[in-house]
Amino acid sequence: MSCLTEKEGKRNTARHHPRESSAPESAAPNRYTELPNTGSAERSRTLAVELAYRPGGLLATKIQLKHVSCATTEGYAARPGGAQSRLLAEISREESKRNLELTMAEYQRHLQGIQPSGPGAADLVKFFESVDGALAEEARTSPSVVLSDQQVRTMLAKRAGTLHLGTANYCWFTDPSRALCLKLAGTPDADRPLIGMCDSARCPQATHHTCHRPVWDASADSTRAFLSKLGRGQKSERIRLEAGLARSQRVLNEIDAASGTGPIREN
Ligand code: SF4
Repeated sequence: MSCLTEKEGKRNTARHHPRESSAPESAAPNRYTELPNTGSAERSRTLAVELAYRPGGLLATKIQLKHVSCATTEGYAARPGGAQSRLLAEISREESKRNLELTMAEYQRHLQGIQPSGPGAADLVKFFESVDGALAEEARTSPSVVLSDQQVRTMLAKRAGTLHLGTANYCWFTDPSRALCLKLAGTPDADRPLIGMCDSARCPQATHHTCHRPVWDASADSTRAFLSKLGRGQKSERIRLEAGLARSQRVLNEIDAASGTGPIREN
């Protein structure tokens, strides 16, 4: 009996501690025990793919790789068709619709004589005029056809696809090589603007519209409030704020002049 127990004990010990075996070299290397001999980026990518396709794996991968967004993890794990991908596709569709409506609204304002302002205004007005010309030509060659909003939308669609919304401007991202934000960031080949770095008073792709007036007005008011609180010794801060105020006031004046509405205010 005791002999049997002793044997069982030995057997159990061996079974419960396989890694303590004296022959580790007998274990065949596999993908779980050996990381591929690649760079760390490739290892992260492999780990992402291995984890992300398991139940709950996307979240695990996101946490492991410290991604801010699940969308990043999905892209990293090359997991198309996930819930996040569908959500992003839906958002993208809604953004396209919204951009087309905004472009249409600005085109209608252009027809009413309310023009955009800002460094990109001339480009946008030129484009609107080309749409005017195309519609006039169509009306001339086919006088019996009533032009519909849908035809105008079709003509505006491509330009609307370049629209990005800034806090205080519209960005018409038609040419990355002209994007001031990308030049400042040193990423001239990026396919999206860096809206957080937007300097719309200087970028040739930025326009200001009447809807942006309240933002610039509030900026001018708060700058005036800061200026009124500055002490006599804060000269450099005063110079900086006065430059900001002058810029806000200039943009406000341009919006008012281009739209033909609102007061022209002085500093
Ligand atoms: S600086 Fe502003 S307007 Fe110009 S490309 Fe960048 S985000 Fe667009």
